[in-house]
Amino acid sequence: MQQKQLSPHFTLDELTHSSLALRHGLPNQPEAGAVTNLTRLARHILEPVRVHFARAFRPSSGFRSLAVNRLLGSKDSSQHITGEAVDFELAAIPNRLLANWIRDNLVFDQLILEFYRPDEPASGWVHCSYRAGANRQQSLIFDGITYREF
Ligand SMILES: [Zn+2]
Repeated sequence: MQQKQLSPHFTLDELTHSSLALRHGLPNQPEAGAVTNLTRLARHILEPVRVHFARAFRPSSGFRSLAVNRLLGSKDSSQHITGEAVDFELAAIPNRLLANWIRDNLVFDQLILEFYRPDEPASGWVHCSYRAGANRQQSLIFDGITYREF
């Protein structure tokens, strides 16, 4: 039922899938506005990454209903709730390299290299948001304790 293609390589189903929601029997269906935001994310962030690195990947978390987001312990201000943020990583590509490329080449709102440890290239994941209008181009590294710009 959710086979809607948002961009050449990404579907609505991939950007709304939540194993946590399934496990807890919580609905995770975006409203039309959130679908529009997810479409922008797929076209402006995910698709350019997919093409540049030439690697298929499935985002680990896109849209989250408020209930799912709270169950995860994330703040109510999270852009995942509006469908403006997505978490992902690419097989065999260090997350810092991926984040640097996004920072240097794409228009985005907020880019966070989450739970990243410099001594472990595969640690953490990339969180990236995009919104219509004023994107902040804010890039941060979060080591689990503090945020710093990079
Ligand atoms: Zn995120």
